[in-house]
Amino acid sequence: MHTAKHVQQLRSSYIREILKAATADGVISLAGGLPAADLFPHMLLQEAMLKVANNRQVFQYGETRGYAPLLEHLSKTFNLQESHGTLVTTGSQQGLDLIARTYLNSEDHIAMEAPSYLGALQVFTLAQATINTVPQTPSGPDIKALKQLFESRQVKLFYAVPDFHNPTGISWSLQTRQEVARLCQTFNVTLIEDAPYRDLRFFGDDLPLVSSFCPDHSLVLRSSSKTSAPGLRLGSVTGPEEWITHLIRVKQTSDLHSSLPMQAALLEILTHPGFEQHLCNVRSHYHQRYQALSEAINTHLQSEVSFTKVEGGMFLWLKLAKGDPMQIAKMALKKGVAIVPGSVFYIEEDIQSPAIRLNFSYCKPEQLATAIQLLASVIALPK
Ligand code: PMP
Repeated sequence: MHTAKHVQQLRSSYIREILKAATADGVISLAGGLPAADLFPHMLLQEAMLKVANNRQVFQYGETRGYAPLLEHLSKTFNLQESHGTLVTTGSQQGLDLIARTYLNSEDHIAMEAPSYLGALQVFTLAQATINTVPQTPSGPDIKALKQLFESRQVKLFYAVPDFHNPTGISWSLQTRQEVARLCQTFNVTLIEDAPYRDLRFFGDDLPLVSSFCPDHSLVLRSSSKTSAPGLRLGSVTGPEEWITHLIRVKQTSDLHSSLPMQAALLEILTHPGFEQHLCNVRSHYHQRYQALSEAINTHLQSEVSFTKVEGGMFLWLKLAKGDPMQIAKMALKKGVAIVPGSVFYIEEDIQSPAIRLNFSYCKPEQLATAIQLLASVIALPK
C-alpha cells in the first residue's frame, strides 16, 4: 500500500538509525536524547506503582483532559491564571502533534529557530506547514531576523525551546525572552514554548518562561520525561482555556486519554517528599557529566572545535573548524562512539556551519571522557 503524500515528505530519521547502532555492545552513545536510567527515581516509582495497582478506578476509561487530581496538582504548580487550562498528553510530543493537527492548515506559515528540535520539524512537515527559520544566537533567536520574518508574512506559530535547547543547549537571555514576547503580541503570533529541559538547570539563575510575558499568545508544553522517566509517556499543554478545549476535541480522536494508571503514578511521584531531592540529584549528576565532557573537549579537541557553554539540559553543540559532520559521525561509530551530525536539525534550505550534537546525560563521566578521546582521533585526522 502507498503511504499518503504528506508521509512521503518525512525524511527517514538518521537519529533513529544511529540509535539502533548506538545500542550495540561496546558503543558509547552521545547520540540519543536519553536521560540517565541510573538516575530514575526508582524508589519513588516502585512506591507509586504499588499504590496505583491497588486503585481500581484508575484502570477504567477516564476524562480526555486528564486525571483530575493530577490536573489540580499541575495547575497549582504551574501557577496558572484563571482563564488558562491544562491538558495532559501522552508525552509532550503528543502535545506538539495535537497543536499542529488542531491549528495548522497546509501551507500555514510557522517559524522556528535554526537549528531546531527534530521531532518538531517532523510534526510540522507532516502537517504540511511552510517552515520559516531564523538563525539562533548564543542568547536566543536573532531578533532582527524574527521581526523581519513576522513583518514579511503572517506567521501563525513560533515554535521555540528557550531553556537548554535541543540540539544546541543554549538558554535565551531575559532580554530576548521579553523581546520575543513583544513581537508575538505585536504580530499576533502564537508562541509554542516547549520546555522539557526547564527543570534541569545546574548553573546560574532561573529565568521566567517567555510565555509569562505574553500569556494570552502562548501555549506551553511540559514533560515528565526528563525529570521522572520517559517511559511514563506523560506531558502537558497549558494555555488559554478556549485553545485547550479545541486540543481536547482532537485528542479524543487520537487516544481518548493518556494512560490513567501512569497519570496516577506520576502524581504520587510529584507529591512524594523525596521528589525535590531526586531532582537535585539529577541536576548535580548532569552538571558533573557536562563538566567531564567539556574538560575532555578542552583537553583533546581544543584547536578543532568551539562550543557555547551550557547551564543545564542534556546537550552540547560542538562547532567544527573543518570536516563533514556526517562522515565524522560514521567514522566515530566505527570507533565505538555514536554522535549526531548537526545537519539533521535543519531544513534542507538552511545554510549550516559544520557541527555535531553531543548528549551528556546518558553516559557516566568516565565514558564521556573516553568518547571524546576516540572522537578526537577521528576529527583530528588530516582531511
Ligand atoms: N520537545 C523537545 C525539545 C524534546 O527534546 C523532546 C524529547 N527529546 C520532546 C519535546 C518530546 O518529549 P516527550 O514526548 O518525551 O515528553
